[in-house]
Parts: sequence; structure tokens; C-alpha cells
Amino acid sequence: QLVLVTGVTGFIGAHVAVSLLKKGYRVRGTVRSMEKANELIRLNPELKDKIEFVIVKDITEPYAFKDVVKDCDYICHVASPFFISNVTDNKTQLLDPAVQGTLSALEAAITEPKVKRVVITSSFAAVGDYTKDPSSGYVYSEKDWNPISYEEALKTESGLLAYCASKVFAEKAAREWVKEKQPHFDICTINPSYVFGPTIHPMNSMESLNTSNQILWTIINGSKIQPSTQGFETDVRDVADAHVLALNHPKLSGGRMLIPQGPFFTNTMSKILLEKFPEKKDVISDPSDVPFDTKRFTIDNSFSKSVGMKYYSEEQTYIDTATNLWERAKQF
Ligand code: NDP
Repeated sequence: QLVLVTGVTGFIGAHVAVSLLKKGYRVRGTVRSMEKANELIRLNPELKDKIEFVIVKDITEPYAFKDVVKDCDYICHVASPFFISNVTDNKTQLLDPAVQGTLSALEAAITEPKVKRVVITSSFAAVGDYTKDPSSGYVYSEKDWNPISYEEALKTESGLLAYCASKVFAEKAAREWVKEKQPHFDICTINPSYVFGPTIHPMNSMESLNTSNQILWTIINGSKIQPSTQGFETDVRDVADAHVLALNHPKLSGGRMLIPQGPFFTNTMSKILLEKFPEKKDVISDPSDVPFDTKRFTIDNSFSKSVGMKYYSEEQTYIDTATNLWERAKQF
């Protein structure tokens, strides 16, 4: 069975392709250029001739995917802009590509009778309510929505909030579209929080490392910045497996699946990595005195476990990510 993966040269998209291939699916991947596709293969020679690449230069274009969906049984729509610094225009840089890209994937799917489900990479960003006191002890589940308004999304000067809004409005647009069009396929969303893990996708420099892995990179790159970030995490390999599981699990029809683990704190990351790699103590940040907020909200991922999700341990994720990022850094 053939799966279209949008954004296959991205951090998560490349892993989704690998997980699909491991499970015996055929993969067609959209890329912005053949140069990037060739670079993905150069980095992962075992993928040679395994992925059929098609060019979709800009997912913001209406009907961007119309010519690439032929014969696909499923779509994993992963492509969406994820950056939070140097955002100068929330609408054109984040909101439009996220919303329009998602609608284009659905508009393409409705033209191909074989499509059974579209799995959309959403995020905890579409779930968490940033106006709630983080120390409220609130337990988030699949029923929650980030309440940000479109007006606020257009105006906010926070790149992070604008990105979160892009995920809210993309997911809402998809659900409204399905309600209105009643297509022959169903949809579901995968909602991870910060994703860490080994990179297998093309990069120009360590500065171009994907946004979430930058958090881990900052505490192992010799900058000795005090670790102080906390949140919830998912290993990229688990995110990829979640997409594969979601393709045809009956309980996911129309649903959402929260897959964050944790909580994580970069202090714990540096402790674990210092213990594992004492020879790297010159480049790993020392654990700081910044206290971990133990009263923070939590995320209930029990639905994901009930449908069969298994997760990497945080130690394994940090160790594999650090090993991979030190190796990648040697190339630049
Ligand atoms: P990346 O930046 O590595 O991947 C984004 C992908 O989208 C890339 O393949 C990129 O293409 C493609 N893309 C972005 N904008 C456009 C555009 N205008 N036209 C065509 N392609 C475009 O980020 P991630 O892999 O981390 O993110 C992938 C998905 O996962 C996104 O939907 C993101 O919101 C979601 N997500 C990520 C989390 C994380 O912590 N990483 C957490 C929760 C959700 P190119 O390769 O050419 O740059």
C-alpha cells in the first residue's frame, strides 16, 4: 500500500518514511527540491530507490498536492513551518502555510478514491491553553483545545504563540472541512509536544537544526548555557511509529492522539548525559540551580498506550540524540 508523506526531508517526515518502509508500506515523499531529496539519500544510502520523490515547492499554493496523490492509500501530512524566531509576519510565514497546506492535502485526497485516511501531524500546541496558570495541576487530554483567537494569532509578537496558533487553526480547518465535505476517507491527528531524537534529514549547519532538537543541542554544544527549559517530550522514532499505527487503527477514526511523555527538564538531560559521557564534560552544560516546577500541568497520554503505543525511555532518547548531534556537527 502506498503512503504519501508530505515534508519527507524534514526532521519528523524522514522518520515517518523510515517507519512506514519498515512496516512494508511503499512511500511517496514530497520535497521542495530534488537536491534535498538527493541529500536525504546521501545521508541514508539504505533508502536509495525506496522512496519515490515528488516535488511540491510550496504547500501554501492552492491545490499544492493535486498532482501527487494518484494511487495513494493513505496520506501522512507532516509538512508545516516550525520556527519560532525571526517571525516577521505571522500570517504568511506560519498561519497560511499550516492551514492552506492541510486543506490542500485534504483537497487532493478527495480526488483519489483509494485514500482511506489522512493522518495529520498536529501538536500539543493545538491542545494546551497558554492562558491557564501552568502550575494549576491541570491534566490535558484529547478533548482540550488551545483557545487562541485568529485575531490574537495575527497580532502576537511571540513567535512561539504564532506557531502554536498555526497548529490550532490547521487542525480546526481540517476538522471543519471534513464535517462540511463528508469525504470518502477519514482523518486523525497525532499531537506530540517537543520532539527529540536522532536526525536523519538534510541540514545546512547546526544552526539549521530543527527547532525542538535545538533545546537539547544548546546544553551539549559547549555554550555551557544554564539548563532551564521544561516541557513534555516525545522521541522522533515514537512520533513516526504513531503515524504508522494511526493509518488504520479503528479507534483513531476522526480522533486525536496525544503522545507527549515526560515531563522533561533540561537539568535532567544534562545530568543523564554527564553521567553517560563523562569525557564530554567540557561541552555539556552543568546542571543549574533553576528549580523544576513540580506543580506544572500534566498530559494524559493513556489513550495512546491503550491503542498500542510503546515509548523510548528518556535516557535512551537523550543518549541517542546527543550521540547523533555530535556526529552531525563534525560535518560542518
Ligand atoms: P522541520 O522543520 O524539520 O520539518 C518541516 C517540514 O515541512 C520540512 O520538510 C519542510 O520542508 C516542510 N515545509 C515547511 N514549510 C513548507 C512550505 N511552505 N512548502 C513546502 N514544504 C514546507 O520540522 P519538524 O519535522 O519538527 O516538524 C514536522 C511537523 O511536526 C510539523 O507539522 C510540526 O508542526 C509538527 N510538530 C513538531 C514538533 C517538534 O517538536 N519537532 C512537535 C509537534 C508537532 P524542507 O525540508 O524543504 O524544509
